[in-house]
Amino acid sequence: MAASRTLTTFRLPPLPTIREIIKLFRLQAVKQLSQNFLLDLKLTDKIVRKAGNLTNAYVYEVGPGPGGITRSILNASVAELLVVEKDSRFIPGLQMLSDAAPGKLRIVHGDVLTFKVERAFPESLKRQWEDDPPNVHIIGNLPFSVSTPLIIKWLENVSQKDGPFAYGRTQMTLTFQQEVAERLTASTGSRQRSRLSVMAQHLCHVRHLFTIPGRAFVPKPQVDVGVVHFTPLVRPAIQQPFELVEKVVQSAFHFRRKYCHRGLGMLFPEAQRLESTEKLLQGADVDPTLRPTQLSVSHFRSLCDVYRKMCDEDPHLFAYNFREECKRTKCKSQEPEDDRESSRL
Ligand code: SAM
Repeated sequence: MAASRTLTTFRLPPLPTIREIIKLFRLQAVKQLSQNFLLDLKLTDKIVRKAGNLTNAYVYEVGPGPGGITRSILNASVAELLVVEKDSRFIPGLQMLSDAAPGKLRIVHGDVLTFKVERAFPESLKRQWEDDPPNVHIIGNLPFSVSTPLIIKWLENVSQKDGPFAYGRTQMTLTFQQEVAERLTASTGSRQRSRLSVMAQHLCHVRHLFTIPGRAFVPKPQVDVGVVHFTPLVRPAIQQPFELVEKVVQSAFHFRRKYCHRGLGMLFPEAQRLESTEKLLQGADVDPTLRPTQLSVSHFRSLCDVYRKMCDEDPHLFAYNFREECKRTKCKSQEPEDDRESSRL
């Protein structure tokens, strides 16, 4: 299908409602799979509208389920919609949508965690990284247990310009449990500032678009849901490998409530910890008594740049893992006072 062809406005013909589709194909939500469906087409239209202008776009929808968001995307005059759904029970209902929108909906029964979208759309859609974003969009309402690991994987893809970002700066509109949406967009010094804030914001312009109350879903989840939009930055704020940034950020937040020098010290073996932490903080011009939540992306940029230099000088440093040292020496005192805090993204 040619990427540049002009399209007339498309509307789906009258179809059974999503509720009727659920009944017809016996699509009861599976609790263990955290399936929560959006049946209100006004809400699914809003998600799609907020994703940006989808005219002639190639859209990748992850986890379409009974197809509420799918319908709204098809009504947005897209060139093509590719959906990847893991649960085979949804395929016949999606097939019905495909019949109602000939040539527009491609259905893959598969797993978004392994699906290679970089091969799915025409080569001609590819843009230079510095150009405006390509006309390729990702949209999805996935289970929370999938959306968080998936966004980490996609952020790594952004940093390497591969996966969905082989097309250029592909935009994403995804749902997260409200607390995760707040962490993704949290500013320096805010209560929700976390590893995820820095990992997302150094690579993307991240916007919390709106909140969907839990009661809008069937069945109702325990929490509200945040809709978040990501546009990869032309120039990442931190110009270091993803793995290195992740290591520095993870260490900094290791002792979330303590001064940042405590967590950052975990980057170094005990024998050189004091001296190397001082060298890192001085080199990066970062006040050791700031809390991790008070560190800005530009603080992290300086920390990562200095840590990179230190790793170049000492080839064993990057492989150092304080948890392994802790296990070997049984150093209980280095474990965070509140593991739940330190391990949260
Ligand atoms: N998008 C639909 C909606 O908003 O009503 C369904 C949302 S439901 C929260 C999540 C959907 O993602 C389910 O249909 C589920 O089967 C699907 N799903 C879960 N994990 C998946 C995976 N790894 N790959 C593809 N689909 C997945």
